[in-house]
Amino acid sequence: MRGLNPTSKNTMRNIYDYTLDELAREFRPAYRAKQIYGWLYHRYIDDFDLMSNVSKELRAALKESFSTQCVTILKIEQSVDGSKKYLFGTHDGHSYEAVLLQMREEQSGEKASEARYTICLSSQIGCRVGCAFCLTGKGGFVRNLSAGEIVAQVVHIKRDNGFAPQKGLNIVFMGMGEPLDNFENVVRAIGILSSKDGLSIAPRRQTISTSGIAPRIEQLGKLNLGVQLALSLHAVNDVLRSKLVPMNRSYNIREVLDVLRHFPIDSRKRLLFEYIIIKDVNDDLASAKELLRLLNGFKAKVNLILFNPHEGSSFARPSMESVRKFQEFLLSRGLLCTVRESKGLDISAACGQLREKSAC
Ligand code: SAH
Ligand code: SF4
Repeated sequence: MRGLNPTSKNTMRNIYDYTLDELAREFRPAYRAKQIYGWLYHRYIDDFDLMSNVSKELRAALKESFSTQCVTILKIEQSVDGSKKYLFGTHDGHSYEAVLLQMREEQSGEKASEARYTICLSSQIGCRVGCAFCLTGKGGFVRNLSAGEIVAQVVHIKRDNGFAPQKGLNIVFMGMGEPLDNFENVVRAIGILSSKDGLSIAPRRQTISTSGIAPRIEQLGKLNLGVQLALSLHAVNDVLRSKLVPMNRSYNIREVLDVLRHFPIDSRKRLLFEYIIIKDVNDDLASAKELLRLLNGFKAKVNLILFNPHEGSSFARPSMESVRKFQEFLLSRGLLCTVRESKGLDISAACGQLREKSAC
């Protein structure tokens, strides 16, 4: 059990760090762990005393060594477009954010009763990659989130919104941090999120977005978890990409695309390529043409993201006209391409606008 929450100074263990199997090894017979999981993940109960079908002795044992309170909600902000931003506080005085996005039906591409919500999760407090356009990167790196701190974002959001346990949700690791730089905890979190006795979020509904740590993409692919992958490409030549996404200096475009060719994807899905469009930087049709060439042979979908401005950034948001031209060029050549609608701009919850901050 060591190493689950390496930054924890207190001796209490975060119960959301634990897989069902691990809890079952602590509390025999195994059905007890299922009962606890049911309370935590189906009823969102975070008070051991309320777990009424759990014996008094077991509740006492749970209270002695486990905590359900390692993560608390500090602040909730509601956007005019229906999205909500959550600021969470950690046991060691840091904060991180997650966003609940309400997708329009045609966006989610699903029936109204299913998966109309997406939760954008953080995987780290801050980020060491330091992309030129990203506010999270500007703030530097504080620490990795533990698996339990990642999972707690979903539990808090489901509870706060009164979501039924079986409600279909999509998860995107597109909040603060580089998920593949926190590999072990993110993989553990995916396992806990997808547990059939817990939150039951199928891996194909979970998308990892990465700046392109090639060996970690390879490692993730070998685990064959069934998750979706999104590469933050953003530029079509190494000179520009190295300026925008410093990770490119370690693993260049060719190296990343080479490992992506072997990444296992669900036959119904596509690899996602994210491309932030920045005015006069990468919004020209020559870039669109080169993008088409680079992605030749991939079952790909390109997601164009309009650069979201923030204080201190010298980049500008592109005109919608140039974005549409870029999109239409790719579509006309048979490459699936969508434009990401920016959600939560009014509450600084849009892509690249999340950072550690205080509750006031
Ligand atoms: N670190 C991972 C995942 C978190 S960032 C990654 O980079 O992929 C999630 C997405 O937000 C990425 O596609 C990122 O490029 C995008 N993003 C960051 N800053 C942005 C900004 N200012 N405007 C628009 N999108 C931004
Ligand atoms: Fe980190 Fe992603 Fe922001 Fe780059 S875009 S600094 S990798 S969070």
